[in-house]
Amino acid sequence: MKKILTWVLVLAMLAMGAALAEGEKITAQGVGQGIDGDVVVQVVADATTLYEVEVLEQNETVGIGSIAVEKLPGAIVEANSIAVDGIAGATVTSNAIKDAIQAALTDAGIDPAPFMVEQAAGEAAEKTAVTLDCDVVIVGAGGAGLTAAVRATQAGAKVLVLEKMPMVGGNSLKASGGMNCAGTKFQEAAGIVDSGVQEFIEDTMNGGHQLNDLALVTTMAENSAEAVEWLESIGAPLPRVAATGGTTHKYLHSPEDGSPVGAYLVAKLGEEAEKQGIEIMLNTTATEILMDGGAAVGVKANDAEHEYTVNAKAVILATGGFGANFELMCSFNPSLANAVTTNHPGATGDGILMAEAVGAATVDMDQIQLHPTVYQATSMLVSEKMRSLGAILVNQEGRRFCNDLATRDAVSAAELEQTGGYAYIIFDQNLVDNNKSAKQYIELGMAVTGDTYEALAQAMGVDEAAFVETMNTWNAAVAAGEDAEFGRNNGMDADLSTAPFYAIQIAPGIHHTMGGIKIDTDTEVIDTEGNPIPGLFAAGETTGGVHGGNRIGGNAVCDFVVFGRIAGAQAAAYAAAAEVAPAA
Ligand code: ADP
Repeated sequence: MKKILTWVLVLAMLAMGAALAEGEKITAQGVGQGIDGDVVVQVVADATTLYEVEVLEQNETVGIGSIAVEKLPGAIVEANSIAVDGIAGATVTSNAIKDAIQAALTDAGIDPAPFMVEQAAGEAAEKTAVTLDCDVVIVGAGGAGLTAAVRATQAGAKVLVLEKMPMVGGNSLKASGGMNCAGTKFQEAAGIVDSGVQEFIEDTMNGGHQLNDLALVTTMAENSAEAVEWLESIGAPLPRVAATGGTTHKYLHSPEDGSPVGAYLVAKLGEEAEKQGIEIMLNTTATEILMDGGAAVGVKANDAEHEYTVNAKAVILATGGFGANFELMCSFNPSLANAVTTNHPGATGDGILMAEAVGAATVDMDQIQLHPTVYQATSMLVSEKMRSLGAILVNQEGRRFCNDLATRDAVSAAELEQTGGYAYIIFDQNLVDNNKSAKQYIELGMAVTGDTYEALAQAMGVDEAAFVETMNTWNAAVAAGEDAEFGRNNGMDADLSTAPFYAIQIAPGIHHTMGGIKIDTDTEVIDTEGNPIPGLFAAGETTGGVHGGNRIGGNAVCDFVVFGRIAGAQAAAYAAAAEVAPAA
């Protein structure tokens, strides 16, 4: 008995590593699971102190996970605790770093428990009051804010951008498909002649169930070709053209290399902003619009240490939607309480609430879009572009059940009627070879796979014969150029015959809030009496009216580029005029 006990102790010691002498420092490595593979972290510590934490290997998403890699190790050492807040928006990477530290400590024989205790909050330090001055203050550094910042600076304004998250990009960073535009040289080069401004307007109005503001839709469509040229002029061309869900024509423009449009544009706009010397203050939250004589003249904002008064001649709200604010969403649609959301955590509708507080009107606040292809376990969106490139949807019976590329609301509704309220998106190796997002979904372990249709059916747990018949019927429809079953009329350029085959189980998730601040075609914010509020502009998902009752894929990017540009130009012009004739 004694012998057995001794061995148990020895094994336990071995498992924990050799016992440490008091004050002995170790250097050890541990591994955590990041969004894109292993995150390897090196730790220098003794039993009571974390001296150094360094990420040695990682492949995390630039602009999201990379922020956690950059900032979290220092925060952990400073707090001498792993129980610090992770980086908002980069939860997976933050947890990977924390797991790796725990593993390294345990392996080296140090009990991680004392480092898992939250440090007692110290006395909240008094924040320092700081006053800043600029021509145009822009709240939010997503697609609309960055576009407006670059455009306003080009127009000669001194711009300051406030961003409450530790990173730029917002929901725009997650846009995976492309940017709808009409009448572009890229369409012309691809021989697409029937996808003009008028068709784009009609598709957008039809997709939005005619609830859209026609003047805003017309402005978006008419300015879209110029917007895509402007993007090219700042080094962000979008030359690939395809169709998207809910459109009858080919408007969707995307990067040459098939990379997701959002990350691509945010990176390019960020580079341009840096080149122009635009100051972007991260971790800085705007809380209130400053008014003087009925005109917007700046904002109040804060970060961990400061209370800012930002005096500006014009204010642009580019704060995005409210798809992560369940309280606000449920006040309009209580049935959404248990839905997953694809939105980043900063999408809380701050701009809408700030604008309402100074008398702005809102429109369509109850119009909240469900996207039909969301991987529920991680709320990750499976891009609509997958279907544009040829993927199809099947149900648990192994059958297609709708026009897979109908509008998002129609496909979501059809999906909710299927067994379990979910479906599978099916694609093949040919599609994977042409789309970076598809590769990423596979690397993230979201897909099941099979070398034959039968094997894939088995992996999905659906009826083999039914699934094989579905696939053969679909491939024949692609060959014939006609979907007799459901009338799908785009995304049929390639069949699904190249093994191996893949399936991701998906269901609807909250995606876009179509409602928001009421603006006119100059992006001026309109008050509840129907008049513009001088000096106050808004663009992007924080505004309402462009998308009506349902946004079609590719229109969020067009919205933020077109109206971001208009807001930048208008606010700069307003600021310049205010310079000449100061407000009375
Ligand atoms: P859009 O597509 O309209 O640009 P995004 O969601 O991409 O919308 O970007 C909106 C940005 O605004 C996000 O980065 C978000 O964190 C930021 N934001 C939201 N509220 C505030 C606020 N109160 N202060 C500063 N930034 C904010």
